Amino acid sequence: MRVIVLGAGVVGTASAWYLARAGHEVTVIERQGTAGLETSFANGGQVSASHAEPWANPGVPAKLLQWLGREDAPLLFRPRAEWRQWAWGARFLFECLPFRNHANTRQLLALALYSRALLQQLRRDTGIEYDQLARGILAFHTDEQAFQRAAAQAERMRRYGCVCEAKTAEACIAIEPAMRHAADRIVGGIYTPDDESGDACKFTQGLARLAAEQGVRFEYGRTIKRLEAEGGRVRRVVLADAAGRDDPVAAEAYVVALGSYSPLLLAPLGVSLPVYPLKGYSITVPLEPADEAPTVSLTDVEHKLVFSRLGDRLRVAGTAEMDDYNTEVDDARCQAIVRRTFDLFPGAGRPERAEFWTGLRPATPSNLPCVGRTRYPNLFLNTGHGTLGWTLACGSGQAIADIVAGRVPEPDFRFTGVPARARSVLVASPGSG
Ligand SMILES: Cc1cc2nc3c(=O)[nH]c(=O)nc-3n(C[C@H](O)[C@H](O)[C@H](O)COP(=O)(O)OP(=O)(O)OC[C@H]3O[C@@H](n4cnc5c(N)ncnc54)[C@H](O)[C@@H]3O)c2cc1C
Repeated sequence: MRVIVLGAGVVGTASAWYLARAGHEVTVIERQGTAGLETSFANGGQVSASHAEPWANPGVPAKLLQWLGREDAPLLFRPRAEWRQWAWGARFLFECLPFRNHANTRQLLALALYSRALLQQLRRDTGIEYDQLARGILAFHTDEQAFQRAAAQAERMRRYGCVCEAKTAEACIAIEPAMRHAADRIVGGIYTPDDESGDACKFTQGLARLAAEQGVRFEYGRTIKRLEAEGGRVRRVVLADAAGRDDPVAAEAYVVALGSYSPLLLAPLGVSLPVYPLKGYSITVPLEPADEAPTVSLTDVEHKLVFSRLGDRLRVAGTAEMDDYNTEVDDARCQAIVRRTFDLFPGAGRPERAEFWTGLRPATPSNLPCVGRTRYPNLFLNTGHGTLGWTLACGSGQAIADIVAGRVPEPDFRFTGVPARARSVLVASPGSG
C-alpha cells in the first residue's frame, strides 16, 4: 500500500521505518531540510521507560500554586484568552487525580517498556549509533519528603514490572561520582538500571538514512498546507510548491506525525486532538577530555531537569511553559539551567560555551499519545507524545504500522479507535465463550 507519513521528527521517522518493514511504499513529507530538526532536535536524551510517569500527578496542583508568577518556575503558565489553553489546563488538573494518574502510568509504562525493547532490537539489527549509553537513569532528590514519596512510587513501578531501586545519597554518588560536589544536598535517589540515553536527533537522522536505503522516499523542504477529504476518506494532502502554490499528493493511507502542529492540520477535517505545545529548554555544553561530566543519565527531580552525556557533549533539558507556539529562546530561563548545572557539576565544561535551544512538546493532558485510527478509515495518528516522544518512538512506530495493517498492536495500551488487546483476543478466539 502507498502510505504518506506527515512529519519527519523521531515519531514520523520511526513510523516510516516500521511501515516500510511491513512492506508498504512509504513517502515522508517534512518542511525542514532534513529529519529531526524541530522538537526532536535537542531534547533531554533520556529513554526513560521505567520513569514513564505522567507529569499530571497528585503532587502537581499544589506545586503549580507555589510556582505561579515565578519566571524561573519549572512549569510556567502564561495565560492567554484562548479556550484551547484553558480546556487543556482543566483536563490536566483532572488527570492529576490519583485514580487517573495510576491508570495513565500503567498505560505509559506498557508502551514505554515495549518501545525500549524495540529500540534495543533495532540497534542489534542495524548497528545504528546515536551516542547511546545504557548505564541507567538516576533520579536524585534534594528534598526528603519528595524522596519518600518517590520511594513509594518506585515500589508501585516495581509491581508493574520495572527494575526501580531506591538508593541512599552515598549509593547515588557511587553510581555517578560526578555528583560528589553536591553530596551535602542529595538525600537519595531512584535508580533504574535498564533505562538508557542517547541523541534523539542523531538517531532520527540515522534511521532516516537507513529507511531511505530501504526505499522510503523523504521529501524535505515541503510544507503541508492542508489535508482534503471526500466521501468519508482523505483524498489528498496539499503541499506548497516553491512559489507557495498548491501541489497535491495522494496515497492510500496517511499517518499524521506532525508533533505540536498535528491539531492545526486536523481541525479542519473535524478531527480534534487534545494536544497543546508545551515549550521546553535545553542547553548543550561541549566537553574536553579532562572535563568531569556525568555519564549516567540523571534527573534533578526538584528542578525538573535531566542530564545526558551525548559523546563529547552534556545535554541538560527541562522546564515547561504554556505559551502557545512561541519558540523564542528566553535567555533568563537558559541561564537558570546553566547556573544549576555548574552548581552541581563545576567541572562539566565551560558555562560560556553552552548552546541554548527550545522546542515544543506535543503534550496531551494525560501524557498519553494519540496513536491509532480516526473516523476517516485511511487517516491514522501518531502524535501527542509530550515529554516522552523519544522514549515512545519505536513502540509507537511499530504500533501504527500494525494498526495500518489492521492488526492489534502488542502493548496493552489504549490506542485510539482500536479495540483493547484482551477484547480482540476474546473476539478472535472461537472457544473463548
Ligand atoms: C526540552 C525538552 C526535553 C525533552 N526531553 C525528552 C527526553 O529526555 N526523553 C523523551 O523521551 N522525550 C523528551 N522530550 C520530548 C520529545 O522530544 C518529543 O516528544 C518528540 O521530539 C516529539 O517528536 P515528534 O516527531 O512527534 O515531533 P517533532 O520532532 O516536532 O516532529 C514533527 C515534524 O513535523 C514537521 N511539520 C510540522 N508541521 C509541518 C507542516 N505544516 N508541513 C511539513 N512538516 C511539518 C516538523 O518540521 C517536524 O519535523 C523533550 C522535549 C523537550 C522540548
